[in-house]
Amino acid sequence: MSQHVLRGDEAVALGALDAGVTAAYAYPGTPSTGIVEALQARHAANGSAPGFWTANEKTAYEAALGVSFVGRRALVVMKHVGLNVAADPFMNSALVAPHGGLVLVVADDPGMHSSQNEQDSRVLADFARIVCLEPASQQEAYEMTREAFDVSERFRIPVMVRLVTRLAHTRSLVTTAPPRAANAIRKPDDTMGWTLLPANARRQWRALLERQPDLRAWAEASPWNHVDDGAPGATLAVVTTGIARNYFLENVGDLARRPLHLHIGAYPAPAELIAGIRSRVSRVLVLEDGYPFLERQLRGLGLRDHSVCGRETGDLPPDGELTPDLVRHALGLPVRPGVPTPDLHVPSRPPQLCGGCPHADSFQALRLALGEHADAVIASDIGCYSLAALPPYSAVDSCVCMGASIGMAKGAADAGHRPAVAIIGDSTFLHSGMTPLLDAAAANTSMTVVILDNQAVAMTGGQSTLVPSSRLEQIVLGLGVQPERLHVLDTHPTKHAANAAVLRDAIASDGLSVVIMVRECVETARRHLQERRHLPLVSEDVDG
Ligand code: SF4
Repeated sequence: MSQHVLRGDEAVALGALDAGVTAAYAYPGTPSTGIVEALQARHAANGSAPGFWTANEKTAYEAALGVSFVGRRALVVMKHVGLNVAADPFMNSALVAPHGGLVLVVADDPGMHSSQNEQDSRVLADFARIVCLEPASQQEAYEMTREAFDVSERFRIPVMVRLVTRLAHTRSLVTTAPPRAANAIRKPDDTMGWTLLPANARRQWRALLERQPDLRAWAEASPWNHVDDGAPGATLAVVTTGIARNYFLENVGDLARRPLHLHIGAYPAPAELIAGIRSRVSRVLVLEDGYPFLERQLRGLGLRDHSVCGRETGDLPPDGELTPDLVRHALGLPVRPGVPTPDLHVPSRPPQLCGGCPHADSFQALRLALGEHADAVIASDIGCYSLAALPPYSAVDSCVCMGASIGMAKGAADAGHRPAVAIIGDSTFLHSGMTPLLDAAAANTSMTVVILDNQAVAMTGGQSTLVPSSRLEQIVLGLGVQPERLHVLDTHPTKHAANAAVLRDAIASDGLSVVIMVRECVETARRHLQERRHLPLVSEDVDG
């Protein structure tokens, strides 16, 4: 046993290593990025199991499936919206029979600190009919990740560990247990269990359904789900999930009578424990950092059942991150006075591109090129450059999901709109931009795709892109873009006019054109320079 002060992300990484994981796979995405970064740091230091960046979450999941297929333990990591990208292998993996533990860690982002939505991954675990573990502390993140591999091998299902931003990015003391050795390689005896042809898939689906009572019995008895009886005669029960427990415990001492308390850390939801507390009180308050997932399960179809309270009854806001103060209000406690700070004036810091960011120069050139085309459709993508939607640039019209820029520009062009421009970063292009570009190339759609090549996955801290930027041209040409319609530009303040001229011609021409605008992110350039000079870094990485 040893003790460490760890972020939630790091606790998951260490839990996986101590569980004997063989490999981990991920695409960077806040708030989950730190898990693979922690694995990579340990791998570099002592040769422990590697963590790989992949093209996207789907390929990450499929690589993890392959590790599990040969009997070894695999970790796959993503943020919540990444699970949408990996939904196909994720849903189908519930039907195969992993015999090397397969653990999916999903970091949700209630409040959308760095995301496009605040979907709750517990819903998807339920959708796939698998087990989900939800830690309330860094210690639980370590222990649950370890246990998740055992549960996966016991029930032969993938197991989800659900984090939220506040847990992933905060630190506390974690006590670790002795590490376990990795499994030996062993191909499955029955590969038909991994071959989802309809006849096999029907058999596997039935087998998954038949295992549900076992999963429910396991959750019912799991020590992660436990009841505190509260004060004698309590009429209120509080159900907490994940880190909501911390917010409840922070406030409960101020209540005149301690409520009955059921904490749920393991799903499927323990129906008998829930029924047990409901029969003893007149009101149940459900506290969860995410969707009203349990609240809905408790209420069922009884829409007028006001004995179950939470986000859907107005006792808590329907959206956003849960906080101790919101929980305090829901418990009927007065506002806790803060510490007056009359002399402290913290200026607001809206997100913006770094000084010297290459994207700023690319947008300057694009603005010049578009000139009189005030009605141009400029579909953007996910990356630092999506900040160009805000003043002073106000240069893009949309930002929906990874890769959507190219598909949306194609749709606008198909609908007859000119000009239609897609803006996408190099890493996002490799993640989800190649297939829509194939669509556009196959149809020779009259649109322009601008790939902003900053030679890094900048928004999540400057990870390396999967392939070097020098390969982008080959990839674009390989997808069918005509060589004469591909332009590679050096994006620089001294080249605005020349770059704008190339962009203007590309946008004015019929058919598909692609312009790659190249200059390294200033943050990674600075870091690389310091590394070359062996200088200490002077500031934290960007973590957007
Ligand atoms: S991190 Fe890099 S790409 Fe992102 S805003 Fe800063 S300089 Fe630009």
